[in-house]
Amino acid sequence: MSRGKLFIVSGPSGVGKSTVLRALFAQNSNLYFSVSATTRDPRPGEEDGVHYHFLSMDTFREWIAKDEFLEYAEFVGNAYGTPRKYVDEALDAGKDVILDIEVQGAEQVCAKRPETVTVFIAPPSWEELERRLTARGTDTAEKIQKRLQRAKEEVLKANNYDYFVVNDTVENAVQELSAIMIAEHCRPDEKMTHLV
Ligand code: ADP
Ligand code: 5GP
Repeated sequence: MSRGKLFIVSGPSGVGKSTVLRALFAQNSNLYFSVSATTRDPRPGEEDGVHYHFLSMDTFREWIAKDEFLEYAEFVGNAYGTPRKYVDEALDAGKDVILDIEVQGAEQVCAKRPETVTVFIAPPSWEELERRLTARGTDTAEKIQKRLQRAKEEVLKANNYDYFVVNDTVENAVQELSAIMIAEHCRPDEKMTHLV
């Protein structure tokens, strides 16, 4: 059995990453979603250990001190990080792993693991992104403006990613993301081992 592949999905807050990933996971059982740690408050419906590990800032600092994170970064006033252990366990078990992380964290992971495949998910327009953030109803008007400001900075880094997917409809975005993952498993180093 070959080791799984590590994928990063980044993109502006509110673009629909969670929505697209939920649909992708519903149709693919050999995938592992890396549950991040965060110091932000849970949104209605979010469960500890399922959507995030919700930590106090003190506990987050302890995890940093114990070197538990593959990467971590600040995002609009909160800390977010990827626990390394579960990622490696899933990869060793042959599962593909998806990290839903912002661009600074993506840079850290790619520096440590250059084989990581990165996908940037973008909105069809800035107006639509603001509409989605507002419609989600989880952030104050001030936080929405901060997230939009951060989105404009993040898009400037999209060129560093391997792939760019526009989330116009969830169906299209899932189809493109699946196609990328399938293509990444069609590289010679993985496919030709039975012949050499
Ligand atoms: P993210 O995880 O990127 O922050 P979410 O998945 O929470 O974004 O989506 C933000 C909002 O946009 C949600 O209300 C979601 O239902 C909506 N949404 C996601 N994808 C689409 C789409 N393709 N078209 C319209 N609305 C969408
Ligand atoms: P949200 O608060 O909307 O759930 O997430 C805000 C941003 O944090 C999103 O861009 C999301 O991709 C990013 N994020 C979530 N988990 C992590 C993580 O573990 N590390 C980093 N660097 N970013 C994360």
